[in-house]
Amino acid sequence: MVNYKDLGLVNTREMFAKAVDGGYAIPAFNFNNMEQLQAIIKACAETKSPVILQVSSGARKYANQTLLRYMAEGAVEYAKELGWEHPQICLHLDHGDTFELCKSCVDFGFSSVMIDGSSLPYEENIALTKKVVEYAHQFDVTVEAELGVLAGVEDDVVAEESHYTKPEEVIDFATRTGCDSLAISIGTSHGAYKFKPEQCTRDPQTGKLVPPPLAFDVLAEIEKKLPGFPIVLHGSSSVPQEYVDIINTHGGNLPDAVGIPEDQLRKAAKSAVCKINIDSDSRLAFTAAVRKVFAEKPGEFDPRKYCGPARDEMTKLYKHKIIEVLGSDGKAE
Ligand SMILES: [Zn+2]
Repeated sequence: MVNYKDLGLVNTREMFAKAVDGGYAIPAFNFNNMEQLQAIIKACAETKSPVILQVSSGARKYANQTLLRYMAEGAVEYAKELGWEHPQICLHLDHGDTFELCKSCVDFGFSSVMIDGSSLPYEENIALTKKVVEYAHQFDVTVEAELGVLAGVEDDVVAEESHYTKPEEVIDFATRTGCDSLAISIGTSHGAYKFKPEQCTRDPQTGKLVPPPLAFDVLAEIEKKLPGFPIVLHGSSSVPQEYVDIINTHGGNLPDAVGIPEDQLRKAAKSAVCKINIDSDSRLAFTAAVRKVFAEKPGEFDPRKYCGPARDEMTKLYKHKIIEVLGSDGKAE
């Protein structure tokens, strides 16, 4: 049994309370490898932003969960080396689907876990979430739950059909489970293809898809039912079209990739939404940088020569999100 506090990590409780009060959101960035983690920590150290490092079940399979946990532990020390005196870093399990998985993360040094019972019938979601909360809270580990279903594909999470969170259920759910935060569905979606072309309009000038707006009315209803309760948005990459264009003009093929416009996320960050999950955008930044090097320097075979530029591009992206979208810069001196 390893307690996260001994690793220098923090849970989400104080982070979220401050974010709700301050009208900003904490970035939740997924990581799978060293370059991505370096980029996240560098961006957060330079902007003094609290951060949630997320590990998905796909990342656990890809990188090995033991290695990822030690990397997160190392990240705290790396942050201090970069001159960040009091790093506020949370290590979070993204989309835990069983009690056993959540328990193993709690026992292994995670400071926060998500139990995603959103595909289960309502009462089963409550029972599973409650069981995880009861276990996690013994060790002061915070728990994110989910109500409502997001569409899209991300790692092991696949849903064909989405449905919005029902505001009339949230009080009952939050009270009976004791969860610390709630992921809701208001039109965000996993992956780099968040909407089908028929759900969008097309910009006549660029030919690019314009996605439908988020359901801010549903968010407002939920806030009214649970004032000040931390709300989480998954699937909130904006799929920057400059990266899609670089990828497509350097041998890639991402037709009609589309995300959530940043002005909508900025608006959400000012509300009770206090955690915004961003994964696909850093994948796109990484891929765009790598494709560019491969196209321009076909003789290059030193991975540092293409993973290095990819890391720089991700750092730039993370800083942009922190400062321009989430407003979390300067919130963890
Ligand atoms: Zn998600």
